[in-house]
Amino acid sequence: MNKPLPFTSFYTNKDGAVMKNYWASSKDCKACPMKSSCAPNIACRKITRTIYDKQYLRAYSRQQTKRGKQMKKLRQSTVEPVFGSLTQFYGLRKIGVLGKLGAHKVMLMAAIAFNLKKYLKKGGRKPSSGIFEAAIESFQSCQVIFRANILNILNAYRFS
Ligand code: SF4
Repeated sequence: MNKPLPFTSFYTNKDGAVMKNYWASSKDCKACPMKSSCAPNIACRKITRTIYDKQYLRAYSRQQTKRGKQMKKLRQSTVEPVFGSLTQFYGLRKIGVLGKLGAHKVMLMAAIAFNLKKYLKKGGRKPSSGIFEAAIESFQSCQVIFRANILNILNAYRFS
């Protein structure tokens, strides 16, 4: 109803995300004809938005462009199935190491193993056996479930 809805405070929700609160004035809402549908059970209307609202809106408007739609299609057919496979079938639902550096290492190894698997599946030239031994050795430090799955892949190709 063309009344101001000013920012009043920050708060952190139960997922740890920082949000912004906007409160209308109770004086405005009390006298408003829309009160029963807009703010039926409280004295005045409150709206909550993430602190990244501006960035979300910018990303959303970019996704609606022709180029944005093309890129979404490309991402859905290339990157997202890989993440899906890693989380659903290769034990990467959680990263079992501490710190960004450790997580980065696990993701790099996952990418190497996944690319190697794809390469060999598409009929890529089989590398000399020493490469498999080196790869297996480097995977020994990975988390248990992930390591078991990757080692199975490598062994399957090594002996095929
Ligand atoms: S009740 Fe809703 S529409 Fe009316 S003044 Fe308050 S916020 Fe605005």
